Amino acid sequence: MPELPEVETTLRGIRPHLAERRIARLIVRDARLRQPIPPETAERVAGQAIRSLSRRGKYLLIGLETGTLLLHLGMSGSVRVVASDRPPRKHDHLDLVLCDEQSLRFHDPRRFGLFLWTPDPPALAERRHPLLSALGPEPLSDAFDGAHLHRLGRQRRVAVKAFIMDAAVVVGVGNIYASESLFTAGIHPARPCHRISLDRYRRLAETIRDVLQDAITQGGTTLRDFVREDGNPGYFARSLRVYGRAGQPCVHCATPLRQLRIGQRSSVYCPRCQR
Ligand SMILES: [Zn+2]
Repeated sequence: MPELPEVETTLRGIRPHLAERRIARLIVRDARLRQPIPPETAERVAGQAIRSLSRRGKYLLIGLETGTLLLHLGMSGSVRVVASDRPPRKHDHLDLVLCDEQSLRFHDPRRFGLFLWTPDPPALAERRHPLLSALGPEPLSDAFDGAHLHRLGRQRRVAVKAFIMDAAVVVGVGNIYASESLFTAGIHPARPCHRISLDRYRRLAETIRDVLQDAITQGGTTLRDFVREDGNPGYFARSLRVYGRAGQPCVHCATPLRQLRIGQRSSVYCPRCQR
């Protein structure tokens, strides 16, 4: 599943191709995404210039002269910039055709992605759109720190791993990054979130930032990955220390890593290093 670093890498990859370009038309080959693409979308976006490209959580926001396009990659989505006359492959559900013979092509085998136009400009959409308005702070912003986690954590009773994966608490911390961050911070994934000190939350917040920033930097060094067809974070896999390593020795203490399920998600941890 594309996670925040992949979405950020995607944003950086497509920005030079889309910024200040004009949209010629929208071609929808299959409107059945997580929410169906409304039929009037093509009419709304045709002829508009692209004024901004940004990200909020795992949503890409394409600011137009009027309104904003929201794009979410879902479970298996990816976008590529291709020559407009290149024949589509299976699961290439839509093309945003630009006036310079290039197209932003959206590919999504499982169709959990989203492509929606909203009349608000990006800054207003972030505050008002139902998909965006309840999102917690960006993990790489100043609004996210240990005090924020400690303050919200005191009011909840869930396992810390489920807590930090809740987009209302902080956006963009998926299973991989939650597992890796908790390992680095030495916190057991099942520890109740109200029973963690401010100091430990400070360490965790720093770790989350570092892990995500590292992944973005690695993605940035292989920018062509934004065209990856499977949407998988292949460039990050080489530095995983617990995710996907159940039964293998801990890199710190050699104790075999264990696995448990928290909120339907598999969680790998070191029983010795994480308390
Ligand atoms: Zn260990």
